Amino acid sequence: ISSVELTEVFLKHIRSLNPELNAFITINEEMSLAQAQVADKMIASGQTHPLTGIPVAQKDIFCAKGWLTTCGSKMLSNFISPYDATIIERFNQVGAVNIGKTNMDEFAMGSSNETSYYGPVKNPWDTLAVPGGSSGGSACAVAARMAPAATATDTGGSIRQPAALCGISGIKPTYGLVSRYGMIAFASSLDQGGPMAKSAEDLALLLNVMTGFDARDSTSLQREPEDYARDLDKPLGQLRIGLPKEYFAKGMSASVASAVEAAIAELRKLGATTVEISLPNTQLSIPVYYVLAPAEASSNLSRFDGVRYGYRASDYTDLEDMYKKTRAQGFGAEVKRRILIGTYVLSHGYYDAYYLQAQKLRRLIASDFTEAFKQCDVIMGPTSPAVAFNLGEKSGDPLQMYLSDIYTSAANLAGLPAMSIPAGFGDKNRPVGLHIVGNYFREAQMLNIAHQYQ
Ligand code: GLN
Repeated sequence: ISSVELTEVFLKHIRSLNPELNAFITINEEMSLAQAQVADKMIASGQTHPLTGIPVAQKDIFCAKGWLTTCGSKMLSNFISPYDATIIERFNQVGAVNIGKTNMDEFAMGSSNETSYYGPVKNPWDTLAVPGGSSGGSACAVAARMAPAATATDTGGSIRQPAALCGISGIKPTYGLVSRYGMIAFASSLDQGGPMAKSAEDLALLLNVMTGFDARDSTSLQREPEDYARDLDKPLGQLRIGLPKEYFAKGMSASVASAVEAAIAELRKLGATTVEISLPNTQLSIPVYYVLAPAEASSNLSRFDGVRYGYRASDYTDLEDMYKKTRAQGFGAEVKRRILIGTYVLSHGYYDAYYLQAQKLRRLIASDFTEAFKQCDVIMGPTSPAVAFNLGEKSGDPLQMYLSDIYTSAANLAGLPAMSIPAGFGDKNRPVGLHIVGNYFREAQMLNIAHQYQ
């Protein structure tokens, strides 16, 4: 099968399913097929890479030259990117095909995809349910077979939680492995791009393309390239799985708990042992995240002022009025809430009490993991406390929504690699995700575990 034929198959799926599921903000068949033709030429001339000619859905947070790049916001509803993000460039170099730009929470702020200016995405397992967020469009696209793989980003859980809720796999690599250049910034010290796919093997192939040093990102790490697929077939051997007692205490739904326990029992059969560990500062990760992420967001989003690019209000009296109206009209409610919180915690008089304090607690949360990894190789638990909730169920209650990331945000605060893999089904037959946190740079080991489990 040629890349053009393969691309056409997926475009056909998109045409039939997307009107209902709303996983894509932009589909551009002409541009996708042009890329597929280039890929077919690459293949004909003998240049092959496992991803040459393979369609990949790109989260609409990644700038892609010539493509509308909205970040789920009205603010960028007219922004055609003049350049490629580093990861887009890397996919282009190996001849992967951009199959479309996926829907997402506005500026990646959300856990249900309901803050998108382009409307919510539906969960393909049950269209009454949310797909999770912020990478809900990418997760839905993969789960519904509208794309074999997708990119996503994770600031507090946005790769792993939607992967869990849609029954697919997703990995957030160690902070600094995937370039943030051309990835629209939310909270720069937490943001990390990563792949979503059906299997650990696919994730490894995608990571091989996405990772690598980039001089255009000041936090990009200089490391020898790795083959993330190298350990997939290794037996699990003496793997020690840490189970944090704080995770298995309260707050988790019964159906999620039993699916996760069953998955861990399966891993024991494969030779793993389990050890109870403690992450004593677990309960601080949501409060710390919701000080630091909005603080960074309020600074990052100051660039959207109607002057340089993006949306500009049409009716204004002077420059200040233009700024105000542009931002009042261009940002949605959740984004405004984050900007207000962030500006508040950074303001003179509150900085020490909130921002500085949160920075110190962030260090404590990270050291919990350093201690825990003395007793185990990986840490496991549920990705999300419950299965996918219904559309509209939490959109009026931000605090409830924020709790969706109770198990995921600590990995971002610590910069650790973390992934979610499918672990059966819970309430209402909706998917459950098993969360795996590894030590720094242990992506290959985590993918090995996921591959053996599958
Ligand atoms: N749900 C979290 C938030 O709303 C995390 C989002 C993300 O990881 N981008 O901020």
